[in-house]
Amino acid sequence: MTGMRDILPQDQKHWEAVRSVAKKIANSYGYQRIDTPILEDVNVFVRGVGKQTDIVAKEMYSFTDQGGDILALRPEGTAAVVRSYIQHGMFNQTQPIKMFYIGPMFRHEKPQSGRYRQLYQLGYEAIGEINPALDAQLILMGYNSLDELGIESTITVNSIGCPDCRNEYKKALVKYYRGKSKLLCEDCKRRIGSNPLRLLDCKEDGCQNLKDEAPQILDYLDDGCKDHFMKVVEYLDELDLPYVLNPYIVRGLDYYTKTIFEYWAVDDTTGKNALGGGGRYDGLVKVLGGREETPACGLSMGMDRIVSKLREKEIEVPEIYGPDVFIAQLGEAAKKKAMVLYESLRKKTDFKLAQAFYKDSLKTQLELANKLKVKFTLILGQKEIGEGTILIRDMEGGVQEVIDFDKIEAEISKRLDKYAKNGNPVMIIGEDITALNTENGGINDEIDEVKEDSKYVIDTGEDIIDIIED
Ligand code: AMP
Repeated sequence: MTGMRDILPQDQKHWEAVRSVAKKIANSYGYQRIDTPILEDVNVFVRGVGKQTDIVAKEMYSFTDQGGDILALRPEGTAAVVRSYIQHGMFNQTQPIKMFYIGPMFRHEKPQSGRYRQLYQLGYEAIGEINPALDAQLILMGYNSLDELGIESTITVNSIGCPDCRNEYKKALVKYYRGKSKLLCEDCKRRIGSNPLRLLDCKEDGCQNLKDEAPQILDYLDDGCKDHFMKVVEYLDELDLPYVLNPYIVRGLDYYTKTIFEYWAVDDTTGKNALGGGGRYDGLVKVLGGREETPACGLSMGMDRIVSKLREKEIEVPEIYGPDVFIAQLGEAAKKKAMVLYESLRKKTDFKLAQAFYKDSLKTQLELANKLKVKFTLILGQKEIGEGTILIRDMEGGVQEVIDFDKIEAEISKRLDKYAKNGNPVMIIGEDITALNTENGGINDEIDEVKEDSKYVIDTGEDIIDIIED
């Protein structure tokens, strides 16, 4: 389906990195998770986002369900969060209510680079507070989310005032553009009558050129809105954030008031793919049926675009599945014992374990362990069962040792600690660079690197840390 895609297992680590940064940032500023349904009553968006906005008028997926209700696949998160705030009487709690969300949104947009029809957003919302320190903090949270991921961004900031100052401004815009309507694209000709602010946002060259001479909102702000904005900017200065004032950003949703902002990658040359954006929405709670005027502010970030930036810049992200210890087995009895061992270690320890109990060949298991880049493999065979032992194989050096079965946990902890401390895997030096004799019960048949000998030294680079003799 156009604009929709699978996110495959091998691609998940980038997404997980973005999600975990969102959770970390939310947590550090006291925002708690909220999940709203993917489907909402269509009016949540028609009234909340605005009937005339592109998101609602052109891009919303809506349908009548079997019960006759008209539903919409959510095209954005804020209106749904506000619906939930009202429905659950959150205005009775200490304000502001600070929430964050992560999830898919749906917009029937024209397919092009950086635009999907199922897109993913993360968002931070704070409802019930007017103080400009909140706006500045939210701007900071979006910036920090990108920064934490290693993406350098700049912030564009503007104020579109309250509805009163905006009405005056709209009149000035309509007057300016009416005189030039021949030069506008078809959409913008229509926007003069329906949504004049959006004229400033049009990406068509002809409309862009006209923008430079257009009246600026900042000249139309009343004293209250001007003061609010000055404060926000002062806080941004104090926080030393890289922002620029852009009097022409308007954002595509009707609910915004006063402060609005967007995040752009510093190396973005297209000017089309913002990484995120947000603003104040002081009127939205009322519009969606709330009893009181309830000021609020929030932002959302485009996860698809953040992920593609991480890839484009080849920014390292943590592996999701990175086991340290593989448990291999040879023979039916060993398989059973290894399965039980696995469960016991899984429950008792936080070792990152891997296995392939559905494989019989030791070679296949060791190949898999190698592929998984585990640090150690525990190998259990018939002989080891008889002796109450197990082999532990250092995958980096290929060295194998026999250890007591009962000491597995302590031994692995010790070795993992060594890894953590030294930061590099154990290396083997010395004249007898050989591994322990492991001529035991058939295991060697499948391990060609293991040689017969007795003595070796384990080193971590500079300092000899262990001398082992059999
Ligand atoms: P908006 O909800 O329109 O303010 O969008 C917030 C952010 O979501 C944008 O800055 C983009 O990063 C992202 N975004 C919006 N629409 C799409 C889309 N169709 N595909 C991918 N990302 C999108």
